[in-house]
Amino acid sequence: MKRLVLASGNPGKLRELARILDDLGYDLHPQSEFDVPEVAETGTTFVENAIIKARHAAAHTGLPALADDSGIEVDALDGAPGVYSARFSGPHADDAANNALLVEKLRQVAPEQRGARYRAVIVLMRHAADPSPIICEGSWEGVIQLEPAGAGGFGYDPYFYLPELGCSSAQLSADEKNRLSHRGQALRELKRRLSEENV
Ligand code: IMP
Repeated sequence: MKRLVLASGNPGKLRELARILDDLGYDLHPQSEFDVPEVAETGTTFVENAIIKARHAAAHTGLPALADDSGIEVDALDGAPGVYSARFSGPHADDAANNALLVEKLRQVAPEQRGARYRAVIVLMRHAADPSPIICEGSWEGVIQLEPAGAGGFGYDPYFYLPELGCSSAQLSADEKNRLSHRGQALRELKRRLSEENV
């Protein structure tokens, strides 16, 4: 098995990625196993932030490193909250406060101007100085609704309406969400790239 480090402490992400990578002969370790300290996400794009995290983990461990970054872009807010999605309502933000702020900002905006998309980026750096990281991206279009619906998913899902399906992303099963979502797309792309190249 080839060792990889994951630049995240999120157990859900570790499980999801470990399952995919196991099939391809990779053994994924969380960066906490190596006492990698947190790094500030100072980028202004998802790609920049994922690279910052992966480079940091690779530099500390000497192993190839994977990192992801994701968020939601709302057209009427010029793409905000974007890379600030997790901390939209401030440094101590939580999902409820972020969603309340989103609804407040869009209350006067017509539905046809409430277009939005989730974006996900997964980056693999073969080493800390890798000049051409593997970059996998996914995006998923929807419309922000002002009333929540559904109890699945997390984050902005109860407000992320999918016009073709007539429901929110919080009303999908986990399997359906994986099949369609920005993260599912990026994960499948990662799998494809890794099956073509030995890292
Ligand atoms: P991070 O990628 O862990 O930094 O998280 C980015 C933030 O974007 C999350 O905290 C959520 O607020 C939001 N986000 C990313 N993907 C999703 C999703 O699939 N559903 C709901 N919110 C999401």
